Formats: sequence, C-alpha cells, structure tokens
Amino acid sequence: MGKGPEVMSPAGYWPQMRAAIEAGADAVYFGLRHFSARAKTGFSLEEELPEALRLLHSRGVKGYVTFNTLVFDHELRAAMATLEKLAEAGPDAIIVQDLGIAALAREIAPDLPVHGSTQMSITSAEGVRFAGRLGATRVVLARELSLKDIGAIIEAGTGGTELEIFVHGALCVSYSGQCFSSEAWGGRSANRGQCAQACRLPYELLVAGAVLPLGEARYLLSPGDLYALQQIPEIVALGGIASLKIEGRYKDADYVALTTAAYRKAVDEAWAGRALTVSAADELRLEQVYSRGMGSQFLAGTNHQAVVRGRAGRHRGLLMGRVARVDAAAIVVIPETATQGLAPLKPGDGVVFDAADWRSPQEAEEGGRIYEVVDARGGKRLTLRFGAGAVNAARIRPGDLVWRTHDPELDKYVKALPARRGQPVCVEVTAHEGERLRAVWTVGEHRVEVASPEAMARAAQRPVDEAVLREQLGRLGGTAYELGELTVDIAGAPFAPVSLLNQMRRQAVEALAALQSAPRAGRRRVANPAPEAVLREAAPQPPQMHVLVRTAEQLDAALAMRPASITLDYLELYGLQPSVARVRAAGVAVRVASPRVLKPAEERIVHFLRKLECGILVRSAGLLDSLVQAGAAPELFGDFSLNAANARTARLLLGMGLQRLTPTHDLNADQIAGLARAVDPLRLEPAVYHHLPVFHTEHCVFCRFLSSGTTHENCGHPCEQHRLALRDERGMAHPVMADVGCRNTVFGAEAQQAAGHLTAWLGAGLRHFRVEFVHESAAEVRRVMAALREALEGRMGAGELAREWQRAAPQGVTEGSLFVPKGYAQFPILP
Ligand code: SF4
Ligand code: SF4
Repeated sequence: MGKGPEVMSPAGYWPQMRAAIEAGADAVYFGLRHFSARAKTGFSLEEELPEALRLLHSRGVKGYVTFNTLVFDHELRAAMATLEKLAEAGPDAIIVQDLGIAALAREIAPDLPVHGSTQMSITSAEGVRFAGRLGATRVVLARELSLKDIGAIIEAGTGGTELEIFVHGALCVSYSGQCFSSEAWGGRSANRGQCAQACRLPYELLVAGAVLPLGEARYLLSPGDLYALQQIPEIVALGGIASLKIEGRYKDADYVALTTAAYRKAVDEAWAGRALTVSAADELRLEQVYSRGMGSQFLAGTNHQAVVRGRAGRHRGLLMGRVARVDAAAIVVIPETATQGLAPLKPGDGVVFDAADWRSPQEAEEGGRIYEVVDARGGKRLTLRFGAGAVNAARIRPGDLVWRTHDPELDKYVKALPARRGQPVCVEVTAHEGERLRAVWTVGEHRVEVASPEAMARAAQRPVDEAVLREQLGRLGGTAYELGELTVDIAGAPFAPVSLLNQMRRQAVEALAALQSAPRAGRRRVANPAPEAVLREAAPQPPQMHVLVRTAEQLDAALAMRPASITLDYLELYGLQPSVARVRAAGVAVRVASPRVLKPAEERIVHFLRKLECGILVRSAGLLDSLVQAGAAPELFGDFSLNAANARTARLLLGMGLQRLTPTHDLNADQIAGLARAVDPLRLEPAVYHHLPVFHTEHCVFCRFLSSGTTHENCGHPCEQHRLALRDERGMAHPVMADVGCRNTVFGAEAQQAAGHLTAWLGAGLRHFRVEFVHESAAEVRRVMAALREALEGRMGAGELAREWQRAAPQGVTEGSLFVPKGYAQFPILP
C-alpha cells in the first residue's frame, strides 16, 4: 500500500464497503441509520457497526463513522447513548457537523477522535483552528476551496488539526451545511440527511422580471461532478493534506471500486514521484460509472462558466452520439468520436435520449436497454433498436443527445480488478541454537510474538536460514497479509522443521488478525444529565423589532420606522460607511452583516467590518472565532448560518461572546420556543418575516448567465446592474443576490412569516424579533414593519398580522420551515 494522503472511500452498505477494501482504500466512511447526512442508507448501531469495524480493521483499513447531522434537543439523549456505543465500538473517528455534538463527544468519549464535517462549512485557517479548539483532530474543508486557498490555509497554520478534502463525486450547489431549500419547500432538512435535491431541478432566469432565453441551459443550479485525479500530484506536493475523500454514500459498489482504484493508483504514483498513468479509457470509465459531467470544479480556482453547464441534472454517463433520424422502429445515431476509447454502443447498453429543453425532471427520460445495433456505414451511423414498447419514439427528436448510462462491460471490468494486496507484515526472527525459536510479527501498531514450544537442537544436516524462513513465513496467500521486511538473527546451526515454521506462521497470523479486529474501546464517561444553568434569567421587557436591509431604499424606509436595530447587508462594502453613519445619527443601533463564507484572501473584509466599529452579525464560525481571539470586538450577534439547533450548541456559541443568536432555520416554531426556554429567551433573535436563504453558492448566476467572464475581474459586474430571480416549475420567482465575496444567495420567493407563532414565542420569553428584506420596495418595508409594530404593541392580532404580511409580501407568505407538523410533540429539553 502506498503512503501519502489517505484515500477515503464511501460505503453506503456492505457491498460498497467490501468494494472499497478490495480496491485499496486506506479508510472508509459510513453512516449509521440515524444521525447521518445520508438518511436512506447506513449500518445498524448495535449489530452492524462492530462487524463493519472488525472487517475494516482486519484488513488494515480505518473506519470513520458519520455523525454529521444537526441534532435537536429531544434527540440529545439518543445522541449521547449513540456516542457511548460508538466509544465502545471504537471507530477511528466520528465525523461531526453539530458544534454541540462535537463538544459532547469529547465529554463522553475523550479518546474518540472527532473530525469536523464539510457540513461545518469551513473555508479558512481560522475555521480550522476553531474546530480544533472544539476538539476536532481533523477538518473536512468546504468543496468550494481552490488548491491555492488550501495551500494558504496550510501556510497560515491549522494548530495541528489535520485537513481532509474531497477529490471526487457530486457537488452541492450550496455550501454544505448552508442549504435550506429542502427545509423551505418540503419541510425536510438537508442538515439532517433529507436533501430533496432542489438544485437538480430546472429554473428559468428572470432578469428584471422577464425571462432570459438561455438555449439548452435549464438546470441553472446543478453543478457537474468533481474529478481531481489529474490534480493528485499537485495535492500530494502541497504536503499538508491528510486525506482525500471520494463522495458517494448513495453510489453502488462498481462506482466505489472504480473511483477507489483510480485514486489509489494516482496517490501511489504521485507519492513515489512517478508520472500519473491515467489513460483516456480510465477517465471514460469513471465518467461512465456515474457522472453529471466531470471537472476539477472549484479546486482549480474560480471559473463561473465551468461548474454549472445547465443541460441536465442527473447522471449522464458517456455521451455516445446525437440522434440523426427517428423511425417508428429504430433510432439512427451519429456516434460521438470523443468517447471511442471505450466500446461503442452495443446490445445490452442502457441509454437515455436527452432533449434538454422540453422535458420535466418529474417525467421519466426516454431511453432503455438496446436490443440491437446495426452499423451499415462503417461506424458513421448506428441504427439502434429496442425491445417492443421499450422506448416511445414520438418523444425522441433529431438532435437529441444519446448518453450511455449503463455499460455491462464495465461490470465485468470491475469484477476483474485486482484484489487488495495484503498488509505488509514485518517479521523479526531470532533463531539461536539451544534456545526457542522466536518471531515478532508487526503490522502498523500491532505486534505479536510467537515462539517454538521447545529449544532448537543443532541441525544434523540443513540448519534454518533466511531463505527457508522467507519461503515458509511468506506463505501468506489467503490471509490479509504479505511478507514485508524480514530480519533474521541466527546463531549456531539451529534446526527448525518446516511443520514448526508453518505452525508458528499460522499462530502469528491468527493472533495478528484477532488483535487488529478487536474493538478499540476507549474511555467512556457519562455525560452530565443535569440541566445547565440558564445563562441569564429573562427579565420582562417590551418586545423589540430588529431589521435587516439590503438596499439603500430599504434603509430609508427602515429608518423612518425607528426599529431597535438595523443590520446592513450590502453587496458593496464601500456603501456601508455612510449608511452606518446615517443609522447612528438617527439614534438607532447599527450592525453590519458579515459574509457567510470567508476564504483565505478575504481577511480585508473582516478588517473593513471591524473598522466600522459597530455590531457585527456573524455568519461563520471561523469569523466568530477570529473576532473573539482578536479581542476588543464590537458587539457580536450570531446568525442562523452558525446552525444552532439545540441548547448545547446555542450555549456554546453564546458563551463565546455573542450578544444574541438566531437559531438555525432547521428548527420549527415549537422548537424555537423550546430552545428559548432552555437557554435564555433574551439571547435569541428569531426571524419573524424574511425570505429563507435557500442556497448559498460559490457559483455566480450573474456571471454565468449574464456575461462570458469567468471571475469578478472580467465579468463586467452584471450583479450591480441587474435584478435576478430564478423561476421554478411552480412559477415562483426566487430572488438571487450576490455578496461582497461574489457568492450568490438564492432566497425563497415567498416571505416566511411567524405571525401565528408570535404569541407562543412571547410566552416563551422571546423579546427580540427580526424582519429581513431582499427585493422588497420601500413601501413594502414600511408596511411589513408597521404591522409587526402594531402586533408587538398589542394592537393587531396574529390573524390580521398574517393577512397584512400576505398583502405586503411581493410573492405572498409561507410558514415555511416554522411549520409544526401535526402530532409533533415538543419533547422535554435535555441538556
Ligand atoms: S445543494 Fe442543497 S438541494 Fe442541492 S444536493 Fe446539496 S443539499 Fe441537496
Ligand atoms: S462581480 Fe458580480 S457578477 Fe461578477 S462574479 Fe462577482 S458577483 Fe458575480
């Protein structure tokens, strides 16, 4: 097995785990049935987890268990029990998203290493150090970082925390941990493993309300897949990356085998200083087994034209040609020459016909398994025939692309891949005449010693020598080992029969296997079940309205309403200074919103925000940590993007120096009230009217579809001239806004409102309520704020408030993520 960064493979279940092992993975990550970001797959905690770890460890493979969801308060007791079981089972690490769970894991299982999940949205050295302070020994960086950014993080220093990056597989359009589309539109949470794949749906682009024709591009938020095989030498040369991760816990065993084998070979070659030997056929196979179109994506640096092609949102496989003619019984195809490195279309292949512009993703694509291929023109035209009724020729048109989604030859190729090599075992033999024969066998950190039952007599004929020992001890076929280094210390002429050497070899192998697969139980402590003290007793005080604005026009309107505070969330940093001064001059508390993502070269943004000497609405944990570490920070407020889903996480964040905190949008209205009671209601500031930020993405929609530029340097800044929205199939237009780092946020079209929950929230002691605007006009801002003031001062009921907001909101209102499902019971708050 090569050295260098670890190759880490996904395992949805047993077939994928076995495929990863055989293909040479150094480590496998997998989930349990609960608390995992892939809710539809996973191993059982009691029976399968120990068995999976035994299997992995017996083959010298590390096992990492994902615990990477946000955890609700009513689940904390179950989470604690799971952590205790995990400590018993002894995985090599758990991968965690929830900050409170990371801290809890350290408390319950201090020996169990914790890795910070990519769901923590970590993009800077500060973020890595923050996770390190919480006890993470490794951090999985966000997939939106370039190799240059990663190099800068390594250079800035991570305080000893290891780094892991993704090198292959599907990308989210949103920063992981920052996608609320499933919450907004389906009451499911991507932060709890229930992504509804809304980014893979078609959208129309509205510019100032009018549809902009984009030709074949309809899937405007669906990124291609990551493929970084060619960058492996560069990644290895960076020298500070501990692990390379392949995405795909929902993928099949063939995908796991092919990707693992490819990255295994590349890492070994790069580590040995050899040139990569990736053939065109290797690349085509990776594309065939699963891809939506492969590229180095964000790893290669910013190129807003490259990540989202827009033609399709599903697995395509290989482009095999284009439809030339459609007959009732056959489809005539012009083959694609670029994919000739693999077998051409043949009977048994699965294909789809991609019409791009008229098919709804809810409709099945036209396609099926080929029954017959006739090549009458020397490969220039292929006539495809399908089984009776297998495809509807009426839905296929000349010009449609033909993709091969399944190639049975690939199954055979995967089956023929070489099996995993044995683990190299070092054997030190001491063979002294008149003493017992001793052999110490070592694999990694495991060491066993075996000895002959009797002392060795003097050999009458052939004494034992190195050649005999190498031959007999090296007979390791059918075991998990192969003979590595053999050290021999022979004195005199000792005699060791072959049967003795065989017996000692078998003994050593059994002992090593037992040692490797034994559970690595660490210390286990019982977490303190007593409720922690409330940070501050809630003193009765009148409710206050806070407002967040994104345009100067909205600011004018907000100022006139004199709220308790105004937060400025502008695209342009330089517009902030005069606006801060205006708010201050009006005697209203002022804050500025930080970006949700800060990359290594963006510290200037932080300096700028600090220089304004006003409150900061902090949206990233790395920024919070660096502001706190820098000391003398102005008043800090934590936003929803810090993902506080339970009382432990909320207390942890508030304890870092936040004045107040907005809970994650994963909580429903009852859960927010529960959280308020469990911490301190005066320290929470939920949003009562806002547009849920459904996607937060590195992909700039403005640049991609309104310019031919690749970065902010050559795009012409269409974001400053145009108002954009993405219209979904229901006709809802979701506003898109860019921030100072060129990241785009797509907001829910309807305003999410909490009118029906205000009374309960006031009853729970909440007193700070925020309204936020996106594309609202000044009049709409005034109307929304005026209604809230009336309600908070007791002059307007919840029903009327909801109706007034419905009238004011440009595209109506929704209860959105605040919706409390029928039968939902607020479980007791556990610490
Ligand atoms: S961006 Fe959101 S909707 Fe798309 S795959 Fe990721 S979590 Fe799911
Ligand atoms: S300047 Fe505007 S349009 Fe250009 S990349 Fe940045 S956000 Fe996108």
